[in-house]
Formats: sequence, C-alpha cells, structure tokens
Amino acid sequence: IFITFEGIDGSGKSTQARRLAEALRDAGHEVVLTREPGGSEGAEQIRSLVLEGDPDRWSPETEILLFTAARRDHLEKRIWPALEEGKIVISDRFADSTRMYQGLSRGDLREQVDGLHAMMIGTEPDVTFVIDMDPGVGLARAKGRQGTEERFEDFGEGLQRQMRQGFLDLATEHPERFLVIDGARAMDEVAADVLRLALERLSE
Ligand code: C5P
Repeated sequence: IFITFEGIDGSGKSTQARRLAEALRDAGHEVVLTREPGGSEGAEQIRSLVLEGDPDRWSPETEILLFTAARRDHLEKRIWPALEEGKIVISDRFADSTRMYQGLSRGDLREQVDGLHAMMIGTEPDVTFVIDMDPGVGLARAKGRQGTEERFEDFGEGLQRQMRQGFLDLATEHPERFLVIDGARAMDEVAADVLRLALERLSE
C-alpha cells in the first residue's frame, strides 16, 4: 500500500509521516519512509539542483521536467521495488505537490504537469493524507524552522492559500484516495487520527 502526505509548507506533514511510519512499524508492518523531492540518490541530487542556489536558474517548464525526472527515479529505485515486496510505502509529498507547486506557483501550468504525469509517472497513491491548516499558521511554523530549504517563504500567504484550496479541491475530486485532516490541532491528536484512518484502510 502506498500512502502519501501532502499540505502547504509548515503544515506538519513530515512529522505526521514519520509518526505514522513509527506507529505502523511498532504494529509489526514493514514500512519504507521516504520523501519528495528526493527519496533516491538521483532524486536527492535533483532536489539540490532545484532547491539550492539561484531560484531563477530554471524556467517553470524546466522545473516541472526536473521534478518529474526526480519522481521517476524515486519510483524506479525505491517505491516500485518496495511495493512489489509487499511493504508499506509512506512518502512525505508526491505528485500532488507538483500539481500544486509547479502547477500553480509560477503560472498556470497544471496541464503540462498532468500531461507529463500521465506519460512518465502513472502511479497514484492508495491513500493521501492532506494535513490541512490555515496558511498563516503554516507559514509561521515554516519560518520558525531552521536548516531546511524553504524556497517558497517569499510566496507568502496568498499563494499558500491558493495551494491549500488546491489540495482541498483535489480531495473533493478524488474522495476515494484523499483524507483531509485538521492539522491545526495538537500534534498527538493529529497523529492519532492519521493512525486510526490508516489502520482502517489497511484492514479493508
Ligand atoms: O516538503 P519540503 O519542506 O521538504 O519541501 C522543500 C521545499 O520545496 C519547500 O519550500 C516546498 O515548498 C518546495 N517544493 C516545491 N515543489 C514541490 C515540492 C516542494 O517547490 N513539488
């Protein structure tokens, strides 16, 4: 089973992905915890290319290609093999992030993102948790963090708001895949909710 976590910057999805992985391991499951952009050696190198250095180095179109290339490598090297071995794969971000970030942030490029996805990726998660919260709260949390590559702080609240709405719209379009979680609550409460819902899905 393939589980992904999505949400705006600072929503706490990385923490929730890690906590779910720990809880499922404790329950005896074999879990691969991974992240995007990155998750494989090649994809991590592409992550550095995109997130470090001059933010205007790549055109929006090139950036979509780089993220898609990274995702393809991540799938080939890590996600597909683990799924074939029957493991649970949990990814902190996946294709929905590209639909929102690359699709929205630098113009309306959603069509290009979707076209490339259909051609080169194909795979969709079985379950996607959207850790939802007000962008003001998420932004403050993201800014309080150190040592991370946050390129879109400058986008500010307006764009984060648009992305939040985008994730919620995706969830409405695909109710069979998405679970929207109120991420503004205490971390333990959010984690308990996520675990309960994940266990429900696993027992289906
Ligand atoms: O999720 P994480 O904090 O590791 O993401 C690192 C940075 O990359 C964030 O600023 C995020 O907004 C950005 N990002 C992006 N396009 C994606 C995924 C993440 O620009 N598809």
